[in-house]
Amino acid sequence: MSVVALAGGTGGAKLAAGLQEVVGDGLTVIANTGDDVEALGVHVSPDPDLCTYWLTGLIDEERGWGIRGDAFTVFERLVELGAPDWFGLSDRDLATCLERRRRLDAGERLTPIASGLAFALGAEATVLPMCDEPVRTRVRTDAGWREFQQYLIQDGAGPAIEEVDFAGISDARPSPEAEAAIEGAEAIVIGPSNPVISIGPILAVPGMSALLAAAEAPVVAVSPFVAGEVIKGPTDKFMRAIGREPSAAGVASAYRGVIDGLVVDAADPDPDPDEDGVATTRLDTLMSDAPARRRVAEATLGFATSLRD
Ligand code: GDP
Repeated sequence: MSVVALAGGTGGAKLAAGLQEVVGDGLTVIANTGDDVEALGVHVSPDPDLCTYWLTGLIDEERGWGIRGDAFTVFERLVELGAPDWFGLSDRDLATCLERRRRLDAGERLTPIASGLAFALGAEATVLPMCDEPVRTRVRTDAGWREFQQYLIQDGAGPAIEEVDFAGISDARPSPEAEAAIEGAEAIVIGPSNPVISIGPILAVPGMSALLAAAEAPVVAVSPFVAGEVIKGPTDKFMRAIGREPSAAGVASAYRGVIDGLVVDAADPDPDPDEDGVATTRLDTLMSDAPARRRVAEATLGFATSLRD
């Protein structure tokens, strides 16, 4: 079965790992690159890399980012030498980013680089960035515009958000690889990632939402609200910042015109969202281990299949 999954680096990445268990190399993950950042002389692409680490089992599940058991030897030496210390990368993670930098400097597009790195590390699924062009999520606070990683790490996602913007988005296009995957998909799944800063940039790539809306395949999203609550990260804050309710109903409205169905967590205390043209189903969406990831993936694909004409 050909499946496309849209993902950030946590909820969507976990579901991607479950989907890979079910459909193997039939899965194509389209990952957000709005969080990309230049740091320590390398190009860091957190969400595609986190997807790759979840797909290959390299992820540090406890921490939720980076590579399990990896040392920070090179980073620590770089800091001793005077490098900025606000963005840490472990040794093998740094190797991924060094290789990405080398291939970008050689003139390659981000797409074959991301898919090549995932393949080299053993992912069965294909990992694609949302586009080849540079897009940078920025957050406006009372201190002015902050790059996303500065806001998240240096500011601890503390200051009130006045505006969110995706710099460079108007020059971005879905890559030929992403377009072909969407057109050929039998099911399209929007993972339970932050709708504003993880899925928002993907849908904002000019032409992407239209491709999804025109796809033959049903498009279903999984709500990132488990029992009505966010598991990790500032999803609530970003939902409020764009004027959406931090709830499954807010997710359904954020994806209006794109999704045919929404998976709501079985323990969500709110009534099912009542969004025109959006079917809903309920299941336990907490993916705390590999069997749970597979179970959520299977049930989500079953739901998507039930929505085909
Ligand atoms: P980031 O790229 O690291 O910011 O992460 P994402 O945007 O991909 O994911 C963040 C969202 O994942 C949060 O809103 C969490 O509530 C959600 N999330 C994390 N784990 C799970 C899970 O097991 N099930 C569901 N439904 N959502 C999850």
